[in-house]
Amino acid sequence: MPVSADVVFVGGKVLTMSSEKGRLADSVAVLNGRILAVGARHEIEELKGRTTRVIDLQGRTLMPGLADIHVHLASGARDQSFVECRDFYDPSVVSVGVILSRLSGRAKTAQPGQWVVGVGSPMQAFRLAERRLPTKQELDAAVPTNPAYVTFGAHVLVANSLALREKHVTSDTPDPAGGLVEKDPTTGEPTGVLRERAQYLLKSKGAPSGRIPLRDLIKHHLELAARRGVTTIHDIVVSPVEMTAYQDLASSGELPIRVRLLIRVIEAEFSMDSLLDLGLRHGFGSDMLRIGGVKLSIDGGFTARQGAFHGLDDETDNHALIRIDQAELDDVISRYHGAGMRICVHVVGDMAIDMALDAFETALARRPRTDHRHRVEHLGNWLFTPERRERTARLGLLPIANPAVMYFLGDMAFEAIGSRRMEGAFALRSMLDAGIPVSFGSDAPGYWPVDVLRDIAAAAGRKTFIGTPVAPEELISVGEGLRAQTATAAWVGFDEASLGSIAHGKLADLIVLDADPLRVPWDVLMDMPVLLTMVGGRVVYECAGALD
Ligand SMILES: [Zn+2]
Repeated sequence: MPVSADVVFVGGKVLTMSSEKGRLADSVAVLNGRILAVGARHEIEELKGRTTRVIDLQGRTLMPGLADIHVHLASGARDQSFVECRDFYDPSVVSVGVILSRLSGRAKTAQPGQWVVGVGSPMQAFRLAERRLPTKQELDAAVPTNPAYVTFGAHVLVANSLALREKHVTSDTPDPAGGLVEKDPTTGEPTGVLRERAQYLLKSKGAPSGRIPLRDLIKHHLELAARRGVTTIHDIVVSPVEMTAYQDLASSGELPIRVRLLIRVIEAEFSMDSLLDLGLRHGFGSDMLRIGGVKLSIDGGFTARQGAFHGLDDETDNHALIRIDQAELDDVISRYHGAGMRICVHVVGDMAIDMALDAFETALARRPRTDHRHRVEHLGNWLFTPERRERTARLGLLPIANPAVMYFLGDMAFEAIGSRRMEGAFALRSMLDAGIPVSFGSDAPGYWPVDVLRDIAAAAGRKTFIGTPVAPEELISVGEGLRAQTATAAWVGFDEASLGSIAHGKLADLIVLDADPLRVPWDVLMDMPVLLTMVGGRVVYECAGALD
């Protein structure tokens, strides 16, 4: 009996992203969730049966689904109970005044005692007309009878007096480990600014509990990612609630795209040893949902000026925040490394970069392993000097840079950390030239949406969203960017046998783009429509009418 495909795509341009130089393909057949065949139209049409869906691409591009390998999707999934103050989502938030009027508007309809919570963007002070964040006094005036706070990225929030009072934050409150309760130097009273771990005096870790169940919020955000052609994410999860929500979606067959969990083991609602105690390794799970590794952070965030940079006694207003000391870091890394678990370490400043490199070097010297795929998150964004690149390559570590940070925050980065620290900024070209695998993540959706095409376009365009060029010599091509977020990303996710390219037997994670991404300028790619997204042979997004 002849085989008949479930779906055939015909008459397009197929970017297989496969390393073998095969013959030129224009058509692909899918059966039982996998790629049945890749080839010329007449060959693929032979696999057409009575029930086969035929999608005529009419010259459009078919390629593997894209991956975003560093997101905080479950933790960043927000419902409408939050007051939108993020200028990266809503460009009309141009001033402190706009933020205050939105909060005050919400306060007028809030129940007594109900918290009013605003969500702003990282480093928004640079972009607001007043060039500063709102103050406690302004929040008191805008929201006089409800507890209220506004977060600005993941590392800093500003609260009103009622919020501080309700949570007993006073002049006597000490700084929690790894956090800062900012106090007025003359009165000693809290100013309302809480940094890093001090934020948890007011807010809960991980996803906020609102009226909409977390599983539904996560599903909604995964569907938004699918609309941009994203078929795999690596999500950093921090609480059992997030783990449960994901399992719930997976077991009911409602996960629209694939999720690799990077489980945070310090500053999380899991104990540091939780996964070691269970004997878990990366790879545990299914091809839709599986453990991709553990995550931990060394220093604070760049957006809150808390990266651990050397020599901060200079012109900048940075305060290095080290969240874990070298001994503890060495211990966690060597234990998880020894257990066969992939480790992802967040570093921002060069002091933190060197701590991570030291810890990995120690662990690898004690227990050499060639194919560990340990990752260093945000490495490559700056201060990735030739010496550090050489060391990173020698240890086989994977730097995960963030072109989205360059695009949205590049202008502020120069000012925030000092231009001399922008050496080796977003060093994607240098990394490729040094033989270091390049694949990147966005840190979305808390700051900006998940959008891998935007990130690839930014890496190829080397400009910020207001058009400032950033180290153009580090430019990579769109083709290199596409490879980074397909084949290389699959490898970073230990998924190279089943994902990342279009080849017989691989999982059918496919997207249809409106035009050939290799033949348009980078700024056109940035907003290029995705017409269809397929995950495991199932169409999870389709632009209505576009492919009829
Ligand atoms: Zn992150």
